[in-house]
Amino acid sequence: MTSHRVIVDETEPTGGDEPPFEPRYVTVKKSKWVTDEYDIHNNLLGRGKFGEVKPCCEKRSGRQLAAKFIEFSGPQERKDVTNEVEVMRSLQHPRLLQIYDAFENKSAFCIVTELITGGELFERVINDDFVLTEKASVMFMRQICDGVSFMHSRHILHLDMKPENILCLSRQGNRIKIIDFGLARKYNPKSELKILFGTPEFMAPEVVNFDPVYPATDMWSIGVICYILLSGLSPFQGTTEPETLCNITTAKWDFSAEEFECISSDAKDFISNLLVKDPSKRMSCRECLDHKWLRKQIQRATKTVQRTLSTKRLRKFVYRRKWQRAVNAMLALKRMGVDLV
Ligand code: ATP
Ligand code: MG
Repeated sequence: MTSHRVIVDETEPTGGDEPPFEPRYVTVKKSKWVTDEYDIHNNLLGRGKFGEVKPCCEKRSGRQLAAKFIEFSGPQERKDVTNEVEVMRSLQHPRLLQIYDAFENKSAFCIVTELITGGELFERVINDDFVLTEKASVMFMRQICDGVSFMHSRHILHLDMKPENILCLSRQGNRIKIIDFGLARKYNPKSELKILFGTPEFMAPEVVNFDPVYPATDMWSIGVICYILLSGLSPFQGTTEPETLCNITTAKWDFSAEEFECISSDAKDFISNLLVKDPSKRMSCRECLDHKWLRKQIQRATKTVQRTLSTKRLRKFVYRRKWQRAVNAMLALKRMGVDLV
């Protein structure tokens, strides 16, 4: 059984960091619709709260890409999608999803991006052929911090960091991409930014309390992702949404579950420096990349990081999130007035 399991964590991600296409300055096309220039395939790559994503092919070049369709009903929703396009335009980095084209008609947007074929990170990790170790987790966390560090250097906050928004570039390789800039915002340290959105389980206390948000707000969510990746347990998840939000605002969490018994103290220290209630005391992305757990040299010297971690609980987590997302997507369709029966 174990003989054909692939340990994909031996090396740093190599190659494939070249951009998927020449950097392009994308302007939103209003006189044409996406189907004029692209063939849209019917199979769904994914569905989120805001959009449906399908593979597509550029008629002119034969290039395979992805098309995210987002319907809007009023000027505010339209502004939000325009923001997504603007944010993506300024984010050219190998760990961040690259925009290729954009279209707008009376009631919808279509954002064409590079096509990512490896599926969601957590789905990959729970697959039978994947051996999850701390070392593999370090490799993923380092790439996540790399991408978010670039965003923060461009004064952009992601504000929706969660496992579904981290995709694997391919089914074999070990490189990831951060996607979904639908909630991303420009950040000006001199003016306060408050937000009223996010995904409860991954929300930082300042979001729940409607206090100003900072780059540190993304760092909290990265801490939650790391906690779940290593244990399959969601640190603040309650049985109801108000309970989850309450758990977040009290910021009480620990490593008492048996899943953490085999986790290194460096990994625990990494998480402990992110799940800190006071945003000013959380590690920044740069500090994360300098943290001993993420630093390669030290990682090589320890045995703990190579132990196989159980993904039993992580499987449960992934199935629960899938179910939750399906319900959310159905509610969103209902809100749009789509008849479901
Ligand atoms: P959310 O509910 O997280 O706010 P959303 O409506 O903004 O989502 P996305 O997160 O951008 O939509 O996309 C939904 C799903 O579609 C993703 O979780 C992913 O599985 C899939 N997906 C998105 N973009 C791509 C892509 N470029 N290539 C492959 N799959 C993609
Ligand atoms: Mg998403």
